[in-house]
Amino acid sequence: MIPIHLAGVSKTYGEQAGARPTGTVDITVEAGEFFTLLGPSGCGKSTLLRMIAGFVAPTAGAIRFGDKDVTRTPAHKRGIGMVFQNYALFPHMTVADNVAYGLRLRNVAKAERTAKVDKALERVGLAGYGKRRIDQLSGGQQQRVALARAIVIEPEVLLLDEPLSNLDAKLREETRMQIREVQKAAATTAIYVTHDQSEAMAMSDRIAVLADGRAHQVDTPRKIYAEPATAFVARFIGRSNVVPATVVSAEADTATVRIADSDVIVRRHPDVPVGPGQAVEISLRPEALRVVGEAEATLHGVVSTLEFLGSTAMLDVDLAGSTVAVSTPDIDVAQGSRIGLAVDPRAGWLIPESADV
Ligand code: ADP
Ligand code: MG
Repeated sequence: MIPIHLAGVSKTYGEQAGARPTGTVDITVEAGEFFTLLGPSGCGKSTLLRMIAGFVAPTAGAIRFGDKDVTRTPAHKRGIGMVFQNYALFPHMTVADNVAYGLRLRNVAKAERTAKVDKALERVGLAGYGKRRIDQLSGGQQQRVALARAIVIEPEVLLLDEPLSNLDAKLREETRMQIREVQKAAATTAIYVTHDQSEAMAMSDRIAVLADGRAHQVDTPRKIYAEPATAFVARFIGRSNVVPATVVSAEADTATVRIADSDVIVRRHPDVPVGPGQAVEISLRPEALRVVGEAEATLHGVVSTLEFLGSTAMLDVDLAGSTVAVSTPDIDVAQGSRIGLAVDPRAGWLIPESADV
């Protein structure tokens, strides 16, 4: 297994327009990692993946697979397997012939080819499907054929561009776990592209959140959820409250901040200095806020909307100057009523970039 290094990589489309969707990217993907490029549509995920694959030449920067500089290496010599959103299978060929395609190109002998195809089909849960025609398969099965075709050549690098987007919700969830298992079993380094944050969170060892021509954060799903680097990340990952606050005092890895006239202790990045009076933004996840009686409350507000979700309800609560979403098991709360909220100590996070001076 090999790491992948992207050093100062960027792509500019069009001399005149000068569009640089990816910005300049510096990322190292560790050997064997399942790494996800996550961001809204148009942020340059596919462009970046295509540069790693060798289908698009970077305007600047270098791409290394392990110690080898592959920046100018053609795609078919990079040792990559690729899976696309639209499967890109040959509809007139059998499942086995589709999977064998890359082995034929590499002149692998028939007996070895058959053995490898059978093993790949077994890995993706399609043992015995070799003789079927592609159009006899469901969308989910077709995507698993595409995955088998990608791994059969034992690629050092597996690249997947929104492979689940054409499947319905239930199948997406089943297939994403299967992709993850296949990648670990095949012992390849994988880079996965998606705009779906829940998919990224469920599948990835680490995620790069891309938007506005830059990587906002490169981190584990847990860190990205609990310690978003920017307000964009906080809002893009799950349902989050980004509320304005003023620093009262700073301690080693916490700060006391004033939110809507109440003092709240929040966690902060120890390397990002903040001082009294500074305006910052706080990420408060809905589950960090509890509906409590007036006496216990640190924040007070009015319930503006109420969404019943079964075991819990999701409330929008208007505080003085901002609105926060609150997840509560207490579904007796009425719309329009005034309620108190307690903030779990240290559950809030001071967004480091909002403290930049
Ligand atoms: P994503 O995969 O994140 O949705 P893309 O990498 O496909 O984003 O595209 C990023 C931006 O680059 C978009 O604005 C897109 O229109 C533009 N773009 C992509 N490919 C080309 C191309 N071949 N020529 C010109 N512009 C392109
Ligand atoms: Mg794309």
